[in-house]
Amino acid sequence: MDFKILDASAFYAGVPFRSSDIWYTTSLVFDEIKHIKKNHDALGILLETHRLKIREPDKKGINEATQAAKKTGDYPQLSKQDISILALCIENEGEIVTDDFAISNVAKNLGLTITPIMTSGIKDVGRWIHYCPGCKTNHPNGVECPICGTPLKRKLIKD
Ligand SMILES: [Zn+2]
Repeated sequence: MDFKILDASAFYAGVPFRSSDIWYTTSLVFDEIKHIKKNHDALGILLETHRLKIREPDKKGINEATQAAKKTGDYPQLSKQDISILALCIENEGEIVTDDFAISNVAKNLGLTITPIMTSGIKDVGRWIHYCPGCKTNHPNGVECPICGTPLKRKLIKD
């Protein structure tokens, strides 16, 4: 079964808005991305037409994802949103659409399928910036926020 799971980076890159596939995500990720203003209506339509489905991973999946992330050393880079995506993928033997390096690394170690955003048929992309999930600032590059020390995440900006 096709069980395609979107992490936050996939939403920021606009993946679900450009295809008629059915996508899954977790409520943690949905809460993180639902305020993307320009896609606000588009998100509502995806939900209404059942092209975006929200599922909760169970505790067993969360534990398994957490253990795997600790084993690969990616755990400090991962938010609870990221862990929820990995857990959902473990439980449903799905595939994760992401450009997040830490998620991809843990998923590969678990033998899960990864579809990088750049190769998922999304061509007209913008440029990547690094953003801080802690203090909500943007930075041109780096791995750690120079302001608050939170690990930076990448997102795509449309010019
Ligand atoms: Zn910060």
